[in-house]
Amino acid sequence: MTQQNITILGSTGSIGVSTLDVIRRHPDRYRAYALCAHSQVDKLFEQCVEFRPVFAVVRDEQLAAQLVERCRAAGLCTEVSHGTAALADLASRPEVDAVMAAIVGAAGLEPTLAAARAGKKVMLANKEVLVMAGELFMHAVHEHGATLLPVDSEHNAIFQALPVDFSRGLDQCGVQKILLTASGGPFRNASLDDLAQVTPEQACAHPNWVMGRKISVDSATLMNKGLEVIEAHWLFSAPPELIQVVVHPQSVIHSAVQYVDGSVLAQLGNPDMRTPIAYAMAWPERIAAGVEPLDLFKVGRLDFFEPDFKRFRCLQLAYDVLHRGGTAPAILNAANEVAVASFLDGLLPFLGIARLNEAVLERLPGGPEGSLGDVVAADAEARALAGQLIRDRCFA
Ligand code: NAD
Ligand code: MG
Repeated sequence: MTQQNITILGSTGSIGVSTLDVIRRHPDRYRAYALCAHSQVDKLFEQCVEFRPVFAVVRDEQLAAQLVERCRAAGLCTEVSHGTAALADLASRPEVDAVMAAIVGAAGLEPTLAAARAGKKVMLANKEVLVMAGELFMHAVHEHGATLLPVDSEHNAIFQALPVDFSRGLDQCGVQKILLTASGGPFRNASLDDLAQVTPEQACAHPNWVMGRKISVDSATLMNKGLEVIEAHWLFSAPPELIQVVVHPQSVIHSAVQYVDGSVLAQLGNPDMRTPIAYAMAWPERIAAGVEPLDLFKVGRLDFFEPDFKRFRCLQLAYDVLHRGGTAPAILNAANEVAVASFLDGLLPFLGIARLNEAVLERLPGGPEGSLGDVVAADAEARALAGQLIRDRCFA
């Protein structure tokens, strides 16, 4: 079997580490070709020692110098580079077979787009890419013959429950609804008064999943589910009214597809990201992922609830920007990144996240998503406005 060369964008993050764990289990099939991180040099160095990648990338020259020194002392041949251009280069080189897009936030857009434009197999965890530039990104995938495999657990579940040729149109395939499940996060039953008091530590303690801090906060506000509605729209060409969010606190059903004949096909499993990661890596085959088998007797019961759009305003905002189209989703995404970072820094209360996002959307209606430049400009404008509103303490 020929080994596949994999570039991991965001190797030190939660998805990156799980990806490396799957690679570790299948050294005959996969090689970590390039490992890209931001600033965690210690962790990246440890990964280099174990996986001996050809390339490693960090944020800047200083961090790169540190990593070069440590690699040299350890006798590693890993070539170290830095910056955004290096990420795009290592996502698109001819030797690369597949790219795991697992950078968090807008920073992942350019390298992931480069991978699509190079016709790679793109395993997409970085949902913000589709939220910001869904039209452009899907266009690049189709035009350059890239293979796009969703890693986000819900979208991976939907992908598994759809026929292989779903791109001929969900209508044609008899799809009536996409049932996008949501755990509801740690504050599913909290009152608005309780939500007003939430601390970053509470928001980052997800009941079912261990994830990075940004996505954990997004899960607590249901912004994550909102971003996933937009992600599903682009991945499956699904109109917003076809996508129904279903709160399912056990996180056993990772999502489902309802068909016109009354069938509902769902994918179930323990909440462990190595399942969708391994599925994307081996598709259309299946490989062991080190995941505990699901014990339905232990699970016992499955519950489902309708989402509360009033307490979790961010979910409504996501449907709103999807209807607005153009750069509106990029504006929401940018405002939300600033809002979440400010909340984590203690500068914004938990409910201020939705209020700030809404205020930015009121002031910036968005325009057409013509080019990457349009998206980047809308993103920058939204960040600047969100930052200004926080500095003015509008939502403190
Ligand atoms: P994380 O915070 O744990 O890791 C983020 C990674 O991105 C790190 O390796 C970091 O070094 C890198 N990074 C951050 N900023 C960067 C920058 N400016 N330039 C280059 N690299 C940068 O995040 P995560 O939980 O692994 O999530 C990664 C992505 O996957 C997110 O888009 C998230 O929404 C998505 N996702 C995560 C999960 C999960 O279970 N963790 C599930 C579904 C989707
Ligand atoms: Mg998800």
